[in-house]
Amino acid sequence: MHTIEHWVDGKPTVLTSTRTAPVFNPATGAQSAEVLLASGADVATAVASARTAFEEWSQSSLTTRSKVLFAFRELVNANVDELAGLITDEHGKVLSDARGEVQRGLEVVEFACGIPHLLKGDYSDQVSTGVDVYSFREPLGVVAGITPFNFPVMVPMWMHPVAVACGNTFVLKPSERDPSGSQLIARLWQEAGLPDGVFTVVNGDKEAVDAILDSPDVAAVSFVGSTPIARYIHERGSANGKRVQALGGAKNHAIVLPDADVDFAAEHLSAAAFGSAGERCMAVSAAVAVGSAGDAVVEAVSAKARGVRVGPGRAQGSEMGPVVTAAAKERIVGLIGSGAEQGATLAVDGRDLMVDGHEDGFWVGPTVIDHVGTSMDVYTEEIFGPVLSVLRVDTVDEAIALINANPYGNGTAIFTASGEAARRFQRGVHVGMIGINVPIPVPMAYYSFGGWKDSLFGDKHMHGAEGVSFYTRAKVITSRWPHVEHPSGASYHFPTNT
Ligand code: NAD
Repeated sequence: MHTIEHWVDGKPTVLTSTRTAPVFNPATGAQSAEVLLASGADVATAVASARTAFEEWSQSSLTTRSKVLFAFRELVNANVDELAGLITDEHGKVLSDARGEVQRGLEVVEFACGIPHLLKGDYSDQVSTGVDVYSFREPLGVVAGITPFNFPVMVPMWMHPVAVACGNTFVLKPSERDPSGSQLIARLWQEAGLPDGVFTVVNGDKEAVDAILDSPDVAAVSFVGSTPIARYIHERGSANGKRVQALGGAKNHAIVLPDADVDFAAEHLSAAAFGSAGERCMAVSAAVAVGSAGDAVVEAVSAKARGVRVGPGRAQGSEMGPVVTAAAKERIVGLIGSGAEQGATLAVDGRDLMVDGHEDGFWVGPTVIDHVGTSMDVYTEEIFGPVLSVLRVDTVDEAIALINANPYGNGTAIFTASGEAARRFQRGVHVGMIGINVPIPVPMAYYSFGGWKDSLFGDKHMHGAEGVSFYTRAKVITSRWPHVEHPSGASYHFPTNT
């Protein structure tokens, strides 16, 4: 059995812990590898390596850093297919989707290539006679990223290109369910010329995470995962004096107004609900049909759901793969059943889907549940599977109120032909990322990614200007070079400007 190791000091490394977790191929249901799970002492070793590397890397010039970033960009681009294959084999998503994930991650690398521009400071000449003020930003030190299974390459890439470009060293604790992509990323950083110890991978579970949160040498933690763990990471990391950004789960609603093009909306709803088997934090899991839109939307989206080609991620023509684990499948199937028991209607039921030749894979077919109420488990739980709940309301204002009553606030969308309704929606919803006739409004890398309410703990979103701000802190210099011919006297009152 292949063992996935850590990456410390520029090489694959076995540390002291011999604990492991199984890694599965979700399309076959078979175990494909085991991954080492670090102990607290192992995390200390990894962080110490990153701490040492920080001394030199934080002093490297902006030119050096941007050269490494550009080289890394080329290498990731040249290895898109290999990275996508690793993602598909451990996550299950189809290859085209996995390639798309790498591409969206690359956009953050490209953003970080512009680090000399992004770190330009401010300068105010002659704020007082003979006095200038200027500011610049410095890296924090060792920063850590703790990431979820659903985007094993892209989500870490929301973090490490920006953190490293800012002069930090980065310790990644990827999901133990699909850890292989991180090993290849580490190798590509090294080939790009990044000094050993600047990018470290430590595999593990709660024990490793807790050691990161308690380490005095970790200055900041970026987390993406489910809401209960995000809340915990934020509380424990903050209590230990760290800067923390912790992105949590989601329940993303898409409103369909009666004036929307129903076929367009249904096609996009289907792709947004069932793409990647619904295992996206920006997946649409609740459609809110307004007024007369209801029956037509359910009919059209159900037809699309029945037509989705489900199969192994590597098979030609597959549009949707399996879910990540047997436990995930069991949970999703249970929630679909609860919807029926609690009074909703199963318009399309994917529970019994089977894929020929892959009988042991973790399959759940696209599912549409109609007449869902806000107290049902299918609505209150983040299902994280290929399940679209349809709720019905009478007006756009009712739809906005329904979204705002939900504890999550990651993404939302509206399908309409009315600019007035779209504007009312964008101003009224308490959600971080909003799409107008765009169901998965993931911001470009030069904007920042983040939700509101229980979808984000902390005050900085990922990448873009907020990412640079998160991974740096400001120095403001007030400077005077006394002129021998015009000496400026000191005084005992608080300095004022003249
Ligand atoms: P998860 O919360 O189970 O795991 C995330 C990370 O936390 C993993 O690295 C895991 O090892 C670690 N972890 C798990 N349990 C822990 C514990 N008890 N103590 C300390 N660390 C622990 O999430 P997941 O199942 O891997 O990913 C799916 C979740 O991530 C969904 O809720 C999804 O919405 C969310 N997500 C959110 C975003 C976003 O941008 N808001 C993006 C992607 C995924």
